[in-house]
Parts: sequence; structure tokens; C-alpha cells
Amino acid sequence: MAKYGMVIDLTKCFGCKSCMAACSVENQSPFWADQSERKWRLKVNSHESGTFPKAMRFFAQNRCQQCEEPACEMVCPTDATYTDNNGTVLVKQDACIGCMACMDACPYDARYFYSPEDIKIQEEKFTKEYSGHKVPHVDKCDFCQHRLEEGLEPACASTCIGDTINFFDLEDENNKFTKLVKSGKAEHLHPEFGMNPKLFYIGLANKHWEI
Ligand code: SF4
Ligand code: SF4
Ligand code: SF4
Repeated sequence: MAKYGMVIDLTKCFGCKSCMAACSVENQSPFWADQSERKWRLKVNSHESGTFPKAMRFFAQNRCQQCEEPACEMVCPTDATYTDNNGTVLVKQDACIGCMACMDACPYDARYFYSPEDIKIQEEKFTKEYSGHKVPHVDKCDFCQHRLEEGLEPACASTCIGDTINFFDLEDENNKFTKLVKSGKAEHLHPEFGMNPKLFYIGLANKHWEI
């Protein structure tokens, strides 16, 4: 059985945000909501680090880290959040009661609330076609399950022209990213959270940002 993960190469991202646009369209995340809210499955932010003459700007994504020990799943009172056979943490919309316990529990701030108001705005401003989202519910990145079923990569990985987002099977020992992870050259974001994510990063050294 495959176990899906990603290696994100921070040294290659140049902040074009194509991944963010592809994700939002593919999954109809309510990005049109109040910009003070983070209603994105994947959001690319610009950051600065260091001081002159060694100051630098870099780009990093806010997204679900697909944890092996997910706090979101542990607190969910209805089992709406669960881990599938491929190790991917998913949300069953029909079982979600929108209590937001998972949003509070996730230290990576990777989840958003999909409200009736979001659907209303979508239908008034963007498309009259019902999006199929049950409201209210809480959602997050699911590695584009509908695309995986068609044999396609997640939308962000297939759109990234910077070769930054690499989707792979952690169980495939011949895969170059599996080897990279095993070598320790790709690291977890905030390992101190203790959730053992399936997302790994290249180029984390000297790059710090607030989640
Ligand atoms: Fe859950 Fe947050 Fe981990 Fe994603 S990053 S699996 S939402 S705890
Ligand atoms: Fe579970 Fe939904 Fe409550 Fe999150 S909002 S804890 S997925 S029931
Ligand atoms: Fe970075 Fe790739 Fe996203 Fe562009 S598409 S912002 S290069 S991760």
C-alpha cells in the first residue's frame, strides 16, 4: 500500500502562486471570503530573514502537513477526520458537525471553516452552480483525492513550474525523494510539535516564519 508524502524545496520556490490558484479552483476552497480569514488549502506567503548584507526573501506554503499523529483527528468527536489506507488525513463532510475542535488543535493552522455565507457568496459572485460542499464543515488539503483516483498528481504538484512541490510514495524505496528523506536532507517543519508529518522540506535552515 502506498503512503503519500511531499518534499517541498524552498530553495526553488519563486512565489508565482500558480499552485495556490490551481488548488483553489480544483477544490473550490472559499478564497473569496474575508481576507483576514485563511480560507485556503494552500497559501503561499512571502517572508524575509537575516539582516543586511545577508538579508533574503523567500516563499513558503501554509498547508496541511499530513501528520502521522494528527492532533486534528485525535480531537474530532464524530470521527469525521480520519486517516485512510494511504496514510492521508481526510475529512468526511457528511460526518462533520463544524464544531471547529480540529481547527483549534492543528498547530500548523491548516484548516478552514466552510460556512453557508461562503456558499452564498460563491453563488452570487462566481458561479450559480452548487459546489457540492456541505455546509457548515471544516476542510483542508486532501492531496486532491479526486485527482489521485484518476491517476493524476495533486493540482499543486502538477502546476508548479518551479519544481518545488514533489508528490511521491514514501513506501517506494527506489524513489529519489524517499531516498532523500531517509538521508535526512529533507526535514519536517516544526518537528517539536511531535506530529511526524509526511511533508518534508529542503532548505529550511535559516528560514523562520510564523504559522
Ligand atoms: Fe491535521 Fe493539522 Fe496535521 Fe493536517 S497539519 S494532519 S490538519 S494536525
Ligand atoms: Fe471533526 Fe468537523 Fe468538529 Fe473538525 S469541525 S472536529 S472534522 S466534527
Ligand atoms: Fe512556488 Fe511552485 Fe507554488 Fe510557484 S507554483 S509559488 S514556484 S510552489
